Parts: sequence; C-alpha cells; structure tokens
Amino acid sequence: MQIPFFRYGHVFGQQREGILASMIKVMDRGAFILQDELKQFEQQVAAFAGAKYAIGMANGTDTLFLALRAAGVGAGDEVILASHTYIATAAAVHFNGATPVLVDCGPDHLIDPAAVEAAITPRTKAIMPTQLNGRTCDMDRLQAIASKHGLLIIEDAAQALGSKFKGKCAGTFGFAGSISLYPAKVLGCFGDGGLLFTNDDKTYAALRQLRDHGRNDDGLVVRWGMNSRLDNLHAAILLEKLKIYPQEMERRRALAALYTAGLSDLEDMTLPPAPDSDPRHYDIFQNYEVEAGRRDALRAHLAENGVRTIIQWAGTPVHQFKDLGLPKFNVPATDRLFQRCFLLPMNTSLTDAEVAYICEVIRKFYGRK
Ligand SMILES: *Cc1c(COP(=O)(O)O)cnc(C)c1O
Repeated sequence: MQIPFFRYGHVFGQQREGILASMIKVMDRGAFILQDELKQFEQQVAAFAGAKYAIGMANGTDTLFLALRAAGVGAGDEVILASHTYIATAAAVHFNGATPVLVDCGPDHLIDPAAVEAAITPRTKAIMPTQLNGRTCDMDRLQAIASKHGLLIIEDAAQALGSKFKGKCAGTFGFAGSISLYPAKVLGCFGDGGLLFTNDDKTYAALRQLRDHGRNDDGLVVRWGMNSRLDNLHAAILLEKLKIYPQEMERRRALAALYTAGLSDLEDMTLPPAPDSDPRHYDIFQNYEVEAGRRDALRAHLAENGVRTIIQWAGTPVHQFKDLGLPKFNVPATDRLFQRCFLLPMNTSLTDAEVAYICEVIRKFYGRK
C-alpha cells in the first residue's frame, strides 16, 4: 500500500461536480471581489460556529495580524503564545511591533495555562492560544487567567473549525478567533484563505475596513488598511465544502477511533485523547499527533512500508528557530515532546483499510501482533 500524508487532489475530486458548477456561476457573472458568495459564506460559517460575525480574509496569517491590529496591540506589548505552534502565530505579533512570549504546552500538546500565568508581566496585553490539531484548549482556565489580569484572548483556531470546549466552538471565545482555509486544513479551499470570528459589532466593523484598504461601505478611506480579502470564487467553493463539513468532522473522529482501537495498547506510544474520552471536548482531528519511542526509526519503517508521515513545523517549535533573534525561552516539555512527536495520516481521503494497515505496520515495528 502507498499512503501519502495528504491527498491534495481529494480536496477537489471529492465534490467535483458541485464545485465546478458553483465556480462557473461566479465566473460567468464576473463576480470576483466582495460579492454575494462571500457574504453568504460569512453568514453560514458564522452560524455554523455560533459566532455573531465571520470576516473572510486572504489567509490565516493576515487574520491573526489584523486581529491584533484591531485590538490595538503594538510596540511595547507582550503577547503570550505556545512555542508549539506555526510560525504565523508569532509572526503576527512580531509584525505589529509587539513581542511574542513563548510558553510550554501540556500533556495534550496545547498551551499550558499554568505556563501562561507564570509568563504574565505588566506589559502583557493578550494571550493567543493555538487550538492545535483540532482540539480546543481548556478555555475556562484561560478565560479565568485573562479576566484576572485584564488580558485579551485572540485564538489561533487555524486548525480547529467546529472543535468545541463545553459546547462552544473554537474561535468564538475571545476578542477574535482565526481560521485558516489553506487546502490541507479541515475546511480547505484551492489556495490561500482565512477568516476571523468575532462577536463584537465594533470589532467587526473595524476588521472589514482593515481587510479592504481601510475603506468604509461608501468606499471612503477612514483608517489605514490593507488588501486581505477572501476571493469570491473561493467563497463559492467553500460554500460547497461547508455543505458536507459536519460529515467531514465525524469521519475524522471515526478515523481517530480506529487509530485508538488499533494502537492504544502499545506502551511505546502516546495517542491523542480518544474522540469521546472527555465530555468537555469535541475534537475534530485536524491532525493525529502521536508520541512514540524510537520515533525516527518508526517513521523510517513506516516510509519503507509506503506510509508517509511528517513532524509538525518541520520538527521545529518556534523557540528553536535560530535566525529570528528571539530571546531564550525555557520550555522543557516542548523540547521533550519534539523528540517524540509526529503526525500519522489524518484526512477524509483515508479508508478504514488504510488505517488498519498503518496500525499493522506500527505494531510490527514494536514486535506486536
Ligand atoms: C495553518 C496555520 C496558520 C496559518 O494559516 P495560513 O492560512 O497558512 O496563513 C496559523 N496557525 C496555525 C496553527 C496553522 O496551523
């Protein structure tokens, strides 16, 4: 068997007819920028997540940058985030002139609330939790810390559309929450795309201007802004994808349950929490990030048997990048985790038989039936 890490062709092939029809409708009308499909997508995805507003943007990095900008985060401010995140989270802070403060993650690989509290200084302005791998942080604890210290929460929910903590969706807890629509993300378009959720009227108005050259609805420039609009063509594609999104989430959870059944007895591996193991969490498994003893040999063994895996961020959490001029951060749990973690294939092109095969290859490596 040959199992790639991700099948990019599936993003289109899965809904070929419907997507083509909706694209042709948009292109025949010449409806390319800030048109009806974008409005509809924003309304539908906001309703899906239980947010008051969604604002479509060019990618899931501009969203973070502009959310911080709308929050007034700038020079002299500190923003706390996990080192186990994509560089985009830190870059959004950096390009606003503020300082990213990197902290450790907990056993579920998400930002450790105790580490957040320990990193707070008089300059701290915001916490940016990454809702990693399709799981939502313990937002009760993070919100308690934020309100005790008067901090904003801006979620990097790039990987977590539809993931919930106590019934509430990732991206809807704080000042604003960011979703990436990159092709390999849970809801992927055919290039770059992103969106922000917010529940606040004034923030919504500001973000719509920030993504469109600072212009108001009359086209007058009322602030500095940039061009970071989600293409209407992409919105049309995403409307099609949103139709099957609930089944997509359930399929990922079913695949995670198959991995649990196939691997949970191996002492050499630590798996993500199983889909229904904690009633507070509804995880949507953007990724299936495991920990494994003799990781590099296991990955080589999987590759020899046709199974492609990756380590997130090319194996480098943010604090380990040498060329960014960051100060030294003490994040021992993250350092330990990156000796052991990697991602097994997790996407809706996978069949049950493929997951069974992957489990079999892993069991053989550890000498188990
Ligand atoms: C994908 C991702 C981003 C950035 O999204 P883009 O749309 O690629 O800009 C940010 N943060 C995390 C955690 C991500 O996984």
